[in-house]
Amino acid sequence: MNPIPVAILGATGSVGQRFVSLLDNHPWFKVVALAASDRTVGQPYGKACRWVLSEAMPEWAREMMIVPAEPGAIDSRIVFSALPADLARELEPQFAKAGFNVCSNASAYRRDEDVPLLLPEVNADHINLVRQQRKNRGWSGSILTNPNCTSTGLTVALKALQDAFGLEKVFIVSLQALSGAGYPGVASLDIADNVIPFISGEEEKVEWEPRKMLGKLVNNKIVLAETKISAHTNRVAVIDGHTVCVSVELSSMASPEQAIQALRSYRASSEVQALPSSPKPDILVRNENDRPQPRLDRLAGKGMTTVVGRVRQDPLFHIKLVVLSHNTVRGAAGGSIFNAELLMREGLL
Ligand code: NAP
Repeated sequence: MNPIPVAILGATGSVGQRFVSLLDNHPWFKVVALAASDRTVGQPYGKACRWVLSEAMPEWAREMMIVPAEPGAIDSRIVFSALPADLARELEPQFAKAGFNVCSNASAYRRDEDVPLLLPEVNADHINLVRQQRKNRGWSGSILTNPNCTSTGLTVALKALQDAFGLEKVFIVSLQALSGAGYPGVASLDIADNVIPFISGEEEKVEWEPRKMLGKLVNNKIVLAETKISAHTNRVAVIDGHTVCVSVELSSMASPEQAIQALRSYRASSEVQALPSSPKPDILVRNENDRPQPRLDRLAGKGMTTVVGRVRQDPLFHIKLVVLSHNTVRGAAGGSIFNAELLMREGLL
């Protein structure tokens, strides 16, 4: 197969760098353009980008010139968007109209009725909204989105419990990593020796996005899951990996052992499992009473696996557990790449 040309919008940022790193040697995709703001356009990526990943910057990226984030400056079939939400709102439709398939990390279009909000191991069938979107908007391209990074691992774990027992209520407290705030992100004097109990807009996203993904596609529309979610979101001094403490009320009672069995046996469809970025396994359940931990567990399944632990009885609801997911891999760039693979496998490119 000839490699499919792809571009990255917002390539110099926290998520953009992850795209560059994860697309290095991707079996299907080849990066042909790196786009960013006027601040860096015209400079070689190696000079323009303050690389903060522990993996080395790929050689091919070093000398690539940054181009403007405009359809006319880019020749590819897929663009991965790591743009701030306000810019994504303005630019992503321009790309979709011009025939690009935009796999976006930004929140701008996640709530739109005809825009898929996707985790392929949870709701791969929602990708069919792309057909409706093209019809509604007269686009030859499309916009598909991945959820906010805290909703990501949370929704994978909830899906396993929803399928097995039904889900009534969910109460969560998040401990979110610094890389989730982009670069340079939160000032060191604000976060060192501290926890910040507010992340703008985050609780609203975590209380709504899982309901879209756990919802059903009926007559080309998503019927939201009726599960009620209450979220407290906090920023903590961890570099990568969002931890979420979760209590759930199920529709039918389950013991911790039954919940563990449901989580452990959860599998994406075989078609999704065959995609290059598919997590292996989808969910890893740890038995130790002090896991998962971000530093030790965030790279499970190359950062794509949802790690769960401390599954136990909840005195208020039914079950409580801890979920960990890598926010810039599974919760951002890796998630978008996984979505693009699904788009391609479904013949929607
Ligand atoms: P970031 O580190 O602040 O990076 C922003 C990127 O956008 C940079 O490459 C910047 O380029 C570019 N940019 C800024 N203004 C621009 C303009 N006018 N035109 C073109 N490019 C412009 O942000 P991030 O954390 O990577 O987040 C990117 C998006 O992903 C956001 O919408 C965020 O909400 C979402 N997201 C982030 C995470 C996470 O864990 N970080 C997870 C899920 C979703 P310059 O270097 O040229 O300024």
